[in-house]
Amino acid sequence: MPARPQAPTLSPAATRVFQRLVMSGDASRTALANDTGLTPGAITRAVRPLLEAGLLDETGDRASSEGALGRPATMVTVRARAHQVVGVKITADQMFGVVADLRCQVLDELTLPVTDLRPDAVVAQVAELVDHLRAGRPEVGGVGLAVSGDVDAATGHVAYSPFLGWRDLPLGELVARRTGLPTTVENDVRALLTGERWYGVGRGLSSLALVTVGTGIGCALLVNGQVVHGSFGVAGEVGHVLVDPDGPLCHCGNRGCVEAIAGSAAILDGVAAAGLDAGSVGEVAELARSGQADAVRVLADAGSAIGTGIATIANLLGAQHILITGEAIGSDYDVMDPHVREAFEERAFGSAARSAIELRPLRFVDWARGAAACAVEDFVTHYGRS
Ligand SMILES: [Zn+2]
Repeated sequence: MPARPQAPTLSPAATRVFQRLVMSGDASRTALANDTGLTPGAITRAVRPLLEAGLLDETGDRASSEGALGRPATMVTVRARAHQVVGVKITADQMFGVVADLRCQVLDELTLPVTDLRPDAVVAQVAELVDHLRAGRPEVGGVGLAVSGDVDAATGHVAYSPFLGWRDLPLGELVARRTGLPTTVENDVRALLTGERWYGVGRGLSSLALVTVGTGIGCALLVNGQVVHGSFGVAGEVGHVLVDPDGPLCHCGNRGCVEAIAGSAAILDGVAAAGLDAGSVGEVAELARSGQADAVRVLADAGSAIGTGIATIANLLGAQHILITGEAIGSDYDVMDPHVREAFEERAFGSAARSAIELRPLRFVDWARGAAACAVEDFVTHYGRS
């Protein structure tokens, strides 16, 4: 693989301009000056090393009203393909990988089965996935990993991942050593939020809550434009918001948490207790659609629990937008939707009810893309900084 050119040393102003361009889109020099508060001269000095490194382009022929006295405005554009990253979502039975560019456009994807969850085996398999995806792509210069559980993004350390059975694993360091590429590790739901923040519904929003519904109920929060990490790696645990003190036992040891009522296992337990035979939430939804009263009740309770949980988030944070997502949202969970909204409207206090609620299906490629977004964010933040 050809060696990548040495990164120039960037000033803090140059980093700010680079971040602005990658995260918020191409801009004229005038717009860059307005957005960053830098002078036109400082913008010129900031852009130069990035042009020389091949990460930016300039086009002077885009006539615009911003051009003074008929002079065309110079547009500064990101050469998105100049730096690429591999994003990987690791689950207990599969890993999903994508190659993405600086705009988080997915250029290629690959899925591998996971058969051995021991850390050494997973690291070897991540390296194999990365090798496949970077073949013929010398532009690939970073890896982003998305893992469920308690993850310290600053160190790349997985403190505890219950679904993967890992504790105190320096995953970032192990993968970086194996692949030779800088590696970013993030909690999977926060990775998804990072992707939405830069390249999805979160663009331009200062607050956004993202709730994932599946086996577990996950949540990640954007507050004042920043992804919240929590002092101890825990923040926005909507899955363990109390809904019913006399409700079913949760794996966290408490009773009546959102997850103990609306997680996939809880839904299946609920219908099994009523004597119904269903192997998936999809089958429960089928029963509900055919009018089976117990299936309707179990899904209504689950929807209400989720609605109550997100109302709690809205009441605490006043999020502009709440995105509820999961593999089955929009298909299996359609039966729940009205109950989610009804409970939310009932419990959200005053203007908090104005939060936009969006339910959207989630594809596994979206998780991997979120992981890639974290690697892009890391690259842009640290490029040229010693
Ligand atoms: Zn709980």
